[in-house]
Amino acid sequence: MLALNTDIININRVGASAAKKLKKLGVATVRDLLFYFPFRYDDFTNLTPIAKLQAGRSANVVGQIELIQNKRSPRRKMNITEALVSDGTETLKVIWFNQPFIARLLKVGDKVSLAGKVEDDYGGLMMSSPVYEKVNLGTIHTQGLVPNYHLTANLTHKQVRFLVKQVIGLAARVQDWLPLEVRYDVKLINLAEAINKIHFPKNNPDIKKARERLAFDELFLIQLEAQLAKRKLSLSRSPAIKFHEPETRKFVNSLPFKLTDAQRKAAWEILRDLEKDRPMSRLLEGDVGSGKTIVVIIAMLNVALNNQQAVLMAPTEILAKQHYDTVCRLLENFGIKVGLVTRNQKEITNYQLPITNKISNFNNQTIKLNAKNIVDDADIIIGTHALIQEDIKFKNLALAVIDEQHRFGVEQRQALLEKSGDNLTPHLLSLTATPIPRSLALALYGDLDLSVINQLPKDRQKIITKVVSEESRAQAYEFIRAQVKAGRQVFVVCPLIDISDKLGVKSVEAEHEKLDKIVFPDLAIGKLHGRLKAEEKEKIMREFLDNKIKILVATSVVEVGLDAPNASVMMIEGADRFGLAQSHQFRGRVGRSLHQSYCFLFTDSQSPPTLARLQALVNSADGFELARLDLKFRGPGQVYGLEQKGFPELKIASLFDYALMKQAKEQAAKLMQIDPFLNKWPGLKEKLGQWEKMVHLE
Ligand code: ADP
Ligand code: MG
Repeated sequence: MLALNTDIININRVGASAAKKLKKLGVATVRDLLFYFPFRYDDFTNLTPIAKLQAGRSANVVGQIELIQNKRSPRRKMNITEALVSDGTETLKVIWFNQPFIARLLKVGDKVSLAGKVEDDYGGLMMSSPVYEKVNLGTIHTQGLVPNYHLTANLTHKQVRFLVKQVIGLAARVQDWLPLEVRYDVKLINLAEAINKIHFPKNNPDIKKARERLAFDELFLIQLEAQLAKRKLSLSRSPAIKFHEPETRKFVNSLPFKLTDAQRKAAWEILRDLEKDRPMSRLLEGDVGSGKTIVVIIAMLNVALNNQQAVLMAPTEILAKQHYDTVCRLLENFGIKVGLVTRNQKEITNYQLPITNKISNFNNQTIKLNAKNIVDDADIIIGTHALIQEDIKFKNLALAVIDEQHRFGVEQRQALLEKSGDNLTPHLLSLTATPIPRSLALALYGDLDLSVINQLPKDRQKIITKVVSEESRAQAYEFIRAQVKAGRQVFVVCPLIDISDKLGVKSVEAEHEKLDKIVFPDLAIGKLHGRLKAEEKEKIMREFLDNKIKILVATSVVEVGLDAPNASVMMIEGADRFGLAQSHQFRGRVGRSLHQSYCFLFTDSQSPPTLARLQALVNSADGFELARLDLKFRGPGQVYGLEQKGFPELKIASLFDYALMKQAKEQAAKLMQIDPFLNKWPGLKEKLGQWEKMVHLE
């Protein structure tokens, strides 16, 4: 007997290998399978009589097999299964490549349902490699709206559908945690029905209803979390940080540039919050390159001048080290001690020595420098997740800053705040580059405090973006050579070659080899991917920042935060494989100084829709607009799968479900009024706990 927490291995016909693959996708139990939602549907709602088929269109046909046989194609060295299928109006030729077993599965006389694209066949028509199934088995693969799932290597949609079909009855046992009063107010279907409809919709309204319910769930939980957090904060106390005006002025004047008005305003808003003894919880939002770091440093400087500690947590070692170097450099003359804590690097500045000789252990190794020493000694501490993993407590933590906040989970953010050694709650500042409009951010995250840097430094030039076809590749390389000759540097971002190459090792190695051996044998080419040790990454980053490496081949790790002002070219290989918003983030790695910068989008695709999609990057430099286009280009059948940078908690809902967001907010507020501890709704309370654990685990 299957139950919701039965291991999937016990489902009929799941072999050990399929179970393993499913587990890779996070599907371990029947419940997981039910919640493994399709991301789009093939629409085979209309059966087409064979006589009415047209070349170039996808269609669904039902007919009887009149002939089926395997042939060898001597020229192309492959096996071809050829069949004739008739539905009384006409006969259709069907072929499959290298799947000889089909001729054993389907026999003459079988009634089959086929779905696929109709092609021209020397004047006649044929279907090539359609999805097929015998009709008497009940059709789930080729008729109606057929779900498509995100898959891992060698798992087919067909397998997943077949499995879901077997367990879908158990959806009725999933407890609906959404309070009835909310469900009725918003007119949502119940959870079991939504699960049924999202997997096996009868029509488009079914998808819409299911999607609405599941999207509401996400938005509602976010709202509730935001409102609960806000309530909790309103009850606690924080250290009040006095604004040190002369030093702040001195710092700002020491910068090699003038702050933008937006930076000034954001800094001002933050400093005002810090002066209060209520914990700040503020989101600092600004597109890539808008200069958020300086604003953070102003805040941290003031904290340090109050003899309190500030911590900045970044998602990668590279980024943490870079922030550390920047802060050390800019605060050199303020007598402030800065520490670095990552898994592999522990440092603290010692201003007796020139800045270039930062020591990594006291007195030439007499004391081993560990995280505890640093946290005890430094005023400003910069680090990675290591900060929360290490067994340390801050003396008097007044401000916690989280860079690229979406890369951290709620629990991680919370854990950092709890590292405070006293019983005051540190002020919290979260940074994000997801450029969503203020109204939307407020709708999504409740009435959070928000500072927006909505302007780029004045001297920035527009990045020239071009889509580059294979034919123009040589020309692009020449251009890059000229840029390097002129002193500039280049990023090359590679897409993952296959799913198993999670760390991007293969794709980066291959590209690096090509550039290093063939295209630019005379230039220093570096590589950066997930398999490298932290020290190696660090070394390479250093060499790139020192202009020793001219061209850096990397995975999407460069997407986050890296600041290399001398780089002027961002080359994106297989650009069609990335979302527009993501490519926009890559592009933000260049154009960070006075040099005219370029972004080249390489693609071997010739498909007009793909090229049109990439063209959007050429036309727009607005990250939010690009996120919106990402959604649009992926089509209305899309339920989820969109990489909404900055919003990993949204799987089904999108940033554009504005009306639903508003309803979620109202409903959350309503419940909080009725019972701020949610004790009236134990199911909801439990769900909220699980959800907080689940989301953000990237
Ligand atoms: P992001 O907002 O993406 O984190 P950074 O803080 O890394 O951006 O800043 C990007 C670059 O712009 C850095 O090299 C920084 O020194 C520089 N910068 C910041 N503010 C200004 C400004 N007002 N004028 C010119 N350059 C600036
Ligand atoms: Mg940044």
